[in-house]
Amino acid sequence: MLVSGIEALRIAAEGNYALPAINYINMEHLQAILAAAEELRAPIVIQTSQNAIDYAGFEYLRDIGVGAAERAKVPVVLHLDHGKDLALNMRCLRYGWTSIMMDASLRPFPENVAAVREVTRAAHCLDIAVEAELGFIGGKEGDAANDPYTLPEEAKRFFDESGCDSLAIAVGTQHGLYHGEVKIDYRRIRDIKQAVGGRPLVLHGTSFVPSQMVREAIDCGINKVNFDSELKMAGMKAIRAFLAENPDAYDLRKMNRPMMAAMKEVAMEKIRICKAEGKSWLK
Ligand SMILES: [Zn+2]
Repeated sequence: MLVSGIEALRIAAEGNYALPAINYINMEHLQAILAAAEELRAPIVIQTSQNAIDYAGFEYLRDIGVGAAERAKVPVVLHLDHGKDLALNMRCLRYGWTSIMMDASLRPFPENVAAVREVTRAAHCLDIAVEAELGFIGGKEGDAANDPYTLPEEAKRFFDESGCDSLAIAVGTQHGLYHGEVKIDYRRIRDIKQAVGGRPLVLHGTSFVPSQMVREAIDCGINKVNFDSELKMAGMKAIRAFLAENPDAYDLRKMNRPMMAAMKEVAMEKIRICKAEGKSWLK
């Protein structure tokens, strides 16, 4: 069932768990993700990035995302991941997404607040959740020099002034693949959570971060965790193994099945890390 991101975040924050948020670029990804969520009776966020929209087309991604969500036996939020401009956010708001992200995190604080406030005013008229980002979720070495991490008092001001529903914070994780050891500033997560009065926080850049570290971040107050690269790599690995064993195969379905099984398995692992197993509130 397609549900509002506002409702799903509220329930997750009250229940002290995180919504697993997984990117999809085609039907097979969606089916693998939703099979995992249904098997574990978990609420789930399926999300589209700008790159995915460029790849598959806005309408196709929307149609399969909304269609899959409406047929699902668990609560499903359809989310826009890293919407960088007003136009794309408004388009998603109009065409069925139930959660959007206005990412103006590269702009100075006042401009970031203003951009998010503008989107939030419209989104809340339609019961659609807005995620924003504050701080620098890295990145390149050397960027850490001038403390790119999110400051607790700034996070509170950001929530208050923008009206957003959730905030992606910079606490040590990075987008994409890691170079070197991962360090998460748990103390900072707890301080931010306290400063914002328990409002929902989001963790990006968790691919290949050890499970117990992600779990500890959730226990400190994270209510949505994004996962992407790890599922894709598991899918590719399964495809490579299939092709090595079946070099003459021509039926794409035979290649897709092991890919979907591998992605489903990773999705189930991520749902468990988020403590979202059994948290579906649908009968
Ligand atoms: Zn991100």
